[in-house]
Amino acid sequence: MNELPLLIELQGVHDGLRVIHRDLSDFPPELAALDTELKTLAKKLEEAGKALASAQGQQTTLTANLASAQKLEDQSKAALKETRHKVQFTAAIRELDERQRQKAAVARPLKEAETRAGTLEKAIEEMEARRIQAQAQFDELHRIFLSGHENQVEAERRLLARKEELRQALPAATVTRFDRLIQHRQGRAVVTLEKGNCGGCNTRLRTPLIAQLREEKHIICESCQRIIHDPQRP
Ligand SMILES: [Zn+2]
Repeated sequence: MNELPLLIELQGVHDGLRVIHRDLSDFPPELAALDTELKTLAKKLEEAGKALASAQGQQTTLTANLASAQKLEDQSKAALKETRHKVQFTAAIRELDERQRQKAAVARPLKEAETRAGTLEKAIEEMEARRIQAQAQFDELHRIFLSGHENQVEAERRLLARKEELRQALPAATVTRFDRLIQHRQGRAVVTLEKGNCGGCNTRLRTPLIAQLREEKHIICESCQRIIHDPQRP
């Protein structure tokens, strides 16, 4: 199977889609501002969500610690009531003091964690409300924007369908290699021979490789691994 014509066409489809995506993301100022705001909000919401989860985790731990401290304090109070001798009484008072101090040491950070969680919940609620509002505004303006770019939208639909057909027609290993090149080689997997150089990285090709290109339909650049073909070749 000669994969080359399919690969050349697939590269063309990628090039076409890149141009269309550039046009379709060249938003007018108002739409661009909403797009930026939505991205910022999404990031802030994610951060606030993590901070809230952390504050709630602390709350759970500190609540358990407070319950233990309370139990110890109650035990000390009960012991104090039972105490009859003066010496023992002083010791029991001291113990109760210490346990009350320990309880206060847990209660303070718990209060802080509760406040923090409350503030975060409120901030998340406000950001979420704004996000929904901004998304609705964005969708509305985006719909109008796309209706003014019907040709590009239609061309994109056609190219995406063709891209899928070409991918189905090629062996899976070839598609994998093509995708890797697209990803790591600035979106150019298939290039032409340019006066003895690789049309992708501009490296001079060794003579045996050029000779090979006369025999075979395409070669692999030794420098950038792109697929090179010679459009001059009959
Ligand atoms: Zn190259």
